[in-house]
Amino acid sequence: MVDAKSIKEKIGKQISKTKAKITPNLPAHKHCRMCGTDIHIKSEPRICKNQECVDQLEKQEKNDKLMRIMFGVFFIAFVIPIVLRLFSMN
Ligand SMILES: [Zn+2]
Repeated sequence: MVDAKSIKEKIGKQISKTKAKITPNLPAHKHCRMCGTDIHIKSEPRICKNQECVDQLEKQEKNDKLMRIMFGVFFIAFVIPIVLRLFSMN
């Protein structure tokens, strides 16, 4: 037999557990993107004052820039000719 009451209790416990996870009693804060240390909510960029993290962010930004350039080149070299060919077919 299924005990409806105990199931209800279990579900109730699960819900209160989930609620506790959603609203933790922590003040608003951010984490450093690099090392995960708690930092001030208004910290910009989102990293701590550790020199290692500053260097890492700089490296990452350079990589991002390179990726964007590569994507732009790829787009011009491959996508535009395909699109043009599609249009000229009509
Ligand atoms: Zn850090």
